[in-house]
Amino acid sequence: MIDRPIATKSRTREIQEKWNAQTKKSFGQNFIVEPGVVEKIARAASADGKGVMIEIGPGIGALTQYLCEYNEKVVAYEIDPRFPEVLREEIGADNLEVILTDFLDVDVNAMLEPYAKAGTPVRFASNLPYYVTTPILFKLFEARQPIESITVMMQKEVADRFAAPSSSKEYNALSVITQYRCNIRRVMDVNRNVFWPSPNVGSAVLQFTFKNEHPVKNEEHFISMVKACFVQRRKTLLNNLQAWTGDKAKALALLENAGIDPATRAQQLGVDDFIKLYKVNYEHESICES
Ligand code: SAM
Repeated sequence: MIDRPIATKSRTREIQEKWNAQTKKSFGQNFIVEPGVVEKIARAASADGKGVMIEIGPGIGALTQYLCEYNEKVVAYEIDPRFPEVLREEIGADNLEVILTDFLDVDVNAMLEPYAKAGTPVRFASNLPYYVTTPILFKLFEARQPIESITVMMQKEVADRFAAPSSSKEYNALSVITQYRCNIRRVMDVNRNVFWPSPNVGSAVLQFTFKNEHPVKNEEHFISMVKACFVQRRKTLLNNLQAWTGDKAKALALLENAGIDPATRAQQLGVDDFIKLYKVNYEHESICES
């Protein structure tokens, strides 16, 4: 039970004045000032709370405070040198470790390895600035060590793209690549008024969990094909694949082998269609084996 949540307007103002910690636009700082919202995110992110919770960008601790309540151990990575002391003093939790660093510089595999060796479950939670959402998430998606879940608040438009179904206007290469790797749950939509300062756009919280299966062996090549299919959204798959392969007859053969009409556009294909398109052409052997 938290007596004095940091995630209120008055407490945030008080902490900012005490520590001379006004928000900085350059670090994408918009603090949550609604305790119900941080509590919901923390609950969704924490599951049974066993193991370690890694928070990226704790700020002055709105979400961190609840994560410390629901998890055995919390490790928070913050870029702003003003905040580690604020977090330690204002939260005062024994299970909190704060690391001052740019998370984009962190070697995620090296960081996760000791947890993997010890069999410690690792979860991530974050309210990310919009300009680092995609690079940070892809760093985590590409990790070779196990991650239980990643729960992230992001700009609503970006969330819509990650979770978009095929044939919707938001569906793009990012949607396919992410949905190939992860199941996505939309935890909640969040009004811009719950932030201080209030951003111009709404936000949403998504939770990513990894799929167990890896249907494609050469994921890098698969991803380059998916990206190529979406290069010119209005053009047909035949046109985009022709540009990728440099050969119209080859592009036509790729589509015919997978039974896909060459006039189809990339946004009409589901994730499984992309997997099929790739495998029948580039991993034929594995299909014969199965
Ligand atoms: N978690 C707090 C909350 O919800 O109120 C703050 C969220 S604020 C949108 C984003 C936080 O991420 C800021 O504290 C900012 O300094 C930090 N940040 C921005 N870029 C970062 C990076 N590359 N690595 C680590 N922290 C970063």
